[in-house]
Amino acid sequence: MKNELSFDTKVVQLMGHCPTTGSIIPPIYQSATFVLEEIGISKGYDYTRSSNPSRETLEFVLKDLEGGVAAASFSSGMSAIDAVMKLLNTGDHIICSKDVYGGVTRLMTDIISRQGIDASFVDTSNIVEIEEALRQNTKMVYVETPSNPLLKITDIEKVSQITKKNHIILCVDSTIGSPALINPLKLGADLVVHSVTKYISGHSLIIGGAVISKDQELADHIRFIQKSIGAVPSPFDCWLTLIGLKTLAIRMNKHSNNALLIAKFLEGHHKISKVNYPGLESHFNHEVALRQMKNFSGLMSFEIDGTLSDCKRFLNNLRIGVLAESLGSVETMFTHPATMTHKDVPPKQRQREGLTDSLIRLSVGIENSDDLLEDIRSALQAI
Ligand code: PLP
Repeated sequence: MKNELSFDTKVVQLMGHCPTTGSIIPPIYQSATFVLEEIGISKGYDYTRSSNPSRETLEFVLKDLEGGVAAASFSSGMSAIDAVMKLLNTGDHIICSKDVYGGVTRLMTDIISRQGIDASFVDTSNIVEIEEALRQNTKMVYVETPSNPLLKITDIEKVSQITKKNHIILCVDSTIGSPALINPLKLGADLVVHSVTKYISGHSLIIGGAVISKDQELADHIRFIQKSIGAVPSPFDCWLTLIGLKTLAIRMNKHSNNALLIAKFLEGHHKISKVNYPGLESHFNHEVALRQMKNFSGLMSFEIDGTLSDCKRFLNNLRIGVLAESLGSVETMFTHPATMTHKDVPPKQRQREGLTDSLIRLSVGIENSDDLLEDIRSALQAI
């Protein structure tokens, strides 16, 4: 496939078709092992934990869409992030965005800390905080942008200037933007991670993750970790992801357009005290988002001017949007971070970081925007 093809052509075409039968959708290679012709002679595969044709196709497509040298796919976003953490050694220090998915905070504070790896949580949307957190033993900066659930935007190019100067790995969780809206490797990151569960697969069907590397040395290291730990996705899940990926460009357009309309509506509503959405001019780093993203994606969060029971009343009165843990799917989903995705973050820390009881996260789907606006308007009237 030539590089000059545009993104929306590539997402449809890169999966290819079956050269043997002409089947427009390649088959699922649902097999644990592969038959060898004789000792040392295989058709390129021996055991699915090491490699599998369905997984290989998914990894080829992800690598191409992100502009990396290789992708490694995992059985969840968290196992992809854990594989990245395994690049670190005892005694190393990592700087991490303060506003990250709650599972990442848990991984760093409760698990990798026990292996003697120290994490500092800073607001990476403020470059000065990264510079101040640097230590002699800092080996990685881990950024989530846009972040979940406060939608903070970190300037990847600026952070990469710091990491390059100090020979530090820069890893970006780009789950919320997806490769349709932003390519962190092209902005200077060394690694990109995705929860493939979200926009990339897009249909609430699978749990998956991926790491895409900028250079061969990192790619080989991640591949070795993938094979050794074995947290790989099933061939069926890879195949479902590949089918979902074909509509990524068109989905991200619709998610973003719907989200901007809803964010503007919420910003003007008297029962809403705050809206976090990078597409709004009022967003702290709107200019950075405008520069590094093609559009602003479908995720936002907002604060209801009221109590936890007002939030409950709002959520209970929705007809289309559902209450669910996930994001990035075609269906509109609401989440209450303080009691759901971020419940393991200690209450005082939650309060300090703006994860209040009245904060609601909204993952805008691809339904009709008028229907969604009406749903939100009438649920707010119930408060
Ligand atoms: N990164 C982000 C930004 C997420 O929102 C999530 C999950 O919600 C993860 C990583 C973890 O992914 P998974 O649930 O696929 O393990």
